[in-house]
Amino acid sequence: MMIRGGTAFWTLFLLVAAVTVPYYTSALASASQSSYDVVIIGGGAAGLTAAKVASTFGKSTVIVEQARMGGYCTWTGCVPSKSLIAAAKAAHTIRTAPTKFGGIQTSGNDLQIDMKAIKDKIRAKIQHIHDEDDSPQAMAKLGIDTIVGKKATFVDDKTLQLSTVGKNDNDNDNDTSLLHAKMGIVIATGASPMEPSDDLIQGLSTVPFLTYEQIFDLEEVPKRLTVVGGGPIGCELAQAFGRLGATVTHVAETLLEREEPEVSETLEKVFAKEGIQRCKGKVVKVEKDGNGGHKFTYQTSDGSKTGTGDLLLIAVGRKPNTAGFGLEEIGVQLNKDDNNCIETNDKMQTSVKRIYAAGDCTAKQQYTHYAGFQGGIAARNIVLPFSDKGVKAPEQIPSATYTAPEVSSIGLRHAQAVEEYGAKNVGVAVQSMSHVDRAICESEEEAGLIKIVYLKKNLKILGATIMGPAAGEMICEIGVAM
Ligand SMILES: Cc1cc2nc3c(=O)[nH]c(=O)nc-3n(C[C@H](O)[C@H](O)[C@H](O)COP(=O)(O)OP(=O)(O)OC[C@H]3O[C@@H](n4cnc5c(N)ncnc54)[C@H](O)[C@@H]3O)c2cc1C
Repeated sequence: MMIRGGTAFWTLFLLVAAVTVPYYTSALASASQSSYDVVIIGGGAAGLTAAKVASTFGKSTVIVEQARMGGYCTWTGCVPSKSLIAAAKAAHTIRTAPTKFGGIQTSGNDLQIDMKAIKDKIRAKIQHIHDEDDSPQAMAKLGIDTIVGKKATFVDDKTLQLSTVGKNDNDNDNDTSLLHAKMGIVIATGASPMEPSDDLIQGLSTVPFLTYEQIFDLEEVPKRLTVVGGGPIGCELAQAFGRLGATVTHVAETLLEREEPEVSETLEKVFAKEGIQRCKGKVVKVEKDGNGGHKFTYQTSDGSKTGTGDLLLIAVGRKPNTAGFGLEEIGVQLNKDDNNCIETNDKMQTSVKRIYAAGDCTAKQQYTHYAGFQGGIAARNIVLPFSDKGVKAPEQIPSATYTAPEVSSIGLRHAQAVEEYGAKNVGVAVQSMSHVDRAICESEEEAGLIKIVYLKKNLKILGATIMGPAAGEMICEIGVAM
């Protein structure tokens, strides 16, 4: 699956729209306005796609971004993590090539890793993507205005107050304190790393730790890295740093618990083989160890145990950015049971008629391609001058985790299908990678599977999981079949 996405659908959509657009056109955006047809808060995946759709329809459009255009995906998410994983994969390939393919010689494990050089490369890739796709200059070419370095706060359902945040990195800054939206506002404010309180992890506030916001700035591979959290981010980073030479301790009850159980079991074996030390349990306490590192206590089924490390990475989830900019004050409803994410209907419309929301702040599924897709729906429903039901967000969102082997899935897991349709109605087909010729040729046959869950009566696919090389690409074919 593409990491910079949502775009395949919207690229097609924008091409079609480009043909039909004159019908709806008003004036294109000009710089330095205080009033726009569509105002977008947040310049990440959701905001960028929303802006492109609104602008394609000829509506004057502005993005207000408090930090950096491109959002988390570009700066601290997909782009740095996939770049780091690619570097780690290269290191691993070199180390394992003699065993896997024979006849390729390396000098054992004596591989030189220069983390600063890797970091510099990653920064260069981020800058490249930002400049080409996300920057104010790139947006200007599409007729979209940007206001970077300003935080937007709601005054009412049509008006935003702008306030300066730190240093402004944008020449094109419109120094407007109030911004008016004639047609609608899209909230695309994303999500931030969860940092558990001391009630959940005793002592966390007293011990230095990193999240994904800082980890990509490391200039040295940590000697002993403790990763807390078994979700996609924790698993990807644990394996990547292990392959780059860190001694990794990974603390989590289960690896990728939302996937099929075979995936977790297989990943456990892969991690063990790669030397990642697993602590199966929940971290309940951390403290300084007196040598510049930390000691952690984790709860397991047979009591509490301890471990130590030099650097602590907390990767326990992400929370929607919905506080502190006036949402509730103007009546935008948040879901208290789901981390205060913004509630929307299928049109991505919030409880306030003129205000829409898209991306991670709606917390439905936190993926770049999905954020972009939602942003497109939100903008379309604001700008089209007639009422329609909206492009319904699909229920089957493919996802990929870039561990090795890669894991991708779509639709229902087997247990969910059984719960929904009953065990006797659900079939399951499993193919191990050990029987896939291509996997054997590439020496990737040891780990992985393809699992398809279907309805017996009509062979309708309910869900699928692929674990193996290029799983993220392969799942798309099943998506089309579904
Ligand atoms: C380490 C990591 C790896 C990931 N890998 C993948 C992957 O491989 N594939 C994938 O699909 N997804 C991945 N994701 C998820 C992906 O990054 C997010 O789903 C995506 O960035 C969401 O886009 P968004 O537009 O909703 O929010 P964001 O990208 O977070 O953008 C929101 C923007 O809003 C701005 N903002 C917030 N509040 C205000 C305000 N009041 N005023 C002005 N601006 C504001 C923020 O500064 C931010 O720039 C990863 C995430 C992380 C953390």
